[in-house]
Amino acid sequence: MNTTISPAEATRDLRAWLARLSDTGRMAVIQENVALKHELAAIAKRLDGRQAAFFPRPDGHAIPVISGFMARRAWIAEAMGVPESELLQAYRRAADEPLPWQEVPAGQAACQEVVHREVDLHDLLPIPTHSEHDSGPYITAGMVIARNPSTGIQNVSINRIQVHARDRMAVLLLPRHLFSYHQAAEAMGQPLSVAIVIGADPLTLLASQAIAPLDYDELGIAGALHGAPLPVAKCLTSEVRVPAGAEIVIEGRLLPQVREPEGPFGEFPKYYSAREEREVIQVDLVTHRKSPIFHTIVPAEMEHLLLGSIPREATLLAHLQRSFSGVQDVHLSIGGVGRYHLFVKLDKRREGEPKNVILCAFGAHYDIKQVIVVDTDVDVHDPQQVEWAVATRFQADRDLVVVSGAQGSVLDPSTTVGQPTDAPAHMQGISAKMGLDATRPVSYHEHVFTKVRVPGEDEVDLAAVVQRGVSVDWRTATAS
Ligand code: MN
Repeated sequence: MNTTISPAEATRDLRAWLARLSDTGRMAVIQENVALKHELAAIAKRLDGRQAAFFPRPDGHAIPVISGFMARRAWIAEAMGVPESELLQAYRRAADEPLPWQEVPAGQAACQEVVHREVDLHDLLPIPTHSEHDSGPYITAGMVIARNPSTGIQNVSINRIQVHARDRMAVLLLPRHLFSYHQAAEAMGQPLSVAIVIGADPLTLLASQAIAPLDYDELGIAGALHGAPLPVAKCLTSEVRVPAGAEIVIEGRLLPQVREPEGPFGEFPKYYSAREEREVIQVDLVTHRKSPIFHTIVPAEMEHLLLGSIPREATLLAHLQRSFSGVQDVHLSIGGVGRYHLFVKLDKRREGEPKNVILCAFGAHYDIKQVIVVDTDVDVHDPQQVEWAVATRFQADRDLVVVSGAQGSVLDPSTTVGQPTDAPAHMQGISAKMGLDATRPVSYHEHVFTKVRVPGEDEVDLAAVVQRGVSVDWRTATAS
């Protein structure tokens, strides 16, 4: 009997998805007692993109750790129930048409089956230390959920969280939505209630990474990705709503006017962020399922890069297509850490159009540092084909766009060169932008820009034309 769980059932919660991976040979169960410091991340990293890694009893801890269950583009498409080629359009539809969440009655949420009011995070949770120079254990797959203090609308984001005391954590807030909610609360001298959700279903994780406007609840996108409103539970200490089927929820408050040292920490660009004063979360309570599972994302590995890049690609594609109907596809390359380098496939109609596309992409997200525009005969998901287009269709004195002194990623170490080490936040991440028009002219002479192909090469049926079990007598070169 085939007991494999269908894609729709498999994304209901984390466990169902892990069962599907396990049933299809994509889950490695690691031996017990792996060390939480470095060893766990080292093993997960070696399996990255091939198998998810499940760690029972890490350091003897009762709670197991899972990592790497969204580490291939194909797995993410599978979770969304679409072919890879339709991934971005499907994500965009969900982002455009969110479904409001639905609250489950008090006491019925799986994520609140067990409640801990006296919290020592180091004892309670198996929190790994990932990279060589990390300051200590970090929660890397925690969705931070907060409410706008004036509108009550929720925001969901994944922030790196350093656990440096039994009930206290320092958190990196990039200048986006959670940051602005906290600023608003701080201006009123109030703490901001937050929930850190660990072990959510794969689609809610993807939804959390949408590049949506301020006051656009990412849990609505999660509902749309599921095709049904997301069941949520009200936190026990605040008005924050969390996915009811999550494994673990930490409830706490971002404190006003409190900063504590955080870092160093190995981040997605594969470099360390420096130790700096960061915002602080005071933990009030932890709830979890019976026998919960702790999710960790190994920084800079495929799960980290893809969870960020696919929602961004969907947003960038929509943004570009609003102005340029010839834009057909985009890709944030893995070599560009899924954030900095954008490849754009354009059905170019007029000369100059690629440069407009480049400028539009720079404006779409401050992380975009390099844009390469290619023609429709180039696959933007294949970096080798993109390089071929640059090698044969691009001239630097004519086709290069450089913008100096724009806002870039504060995590890009090249933006720090020539900066004082104590540069204030508003002076950090200043970056040049580079655009390459690697398209051929709209009209060209004869075969100058015609890509070589052999007629019939794509249609050959190798199973039909290759003879099986036949050898050649090389003296007579006759097959027998
Ligand atoms: Mn948001």
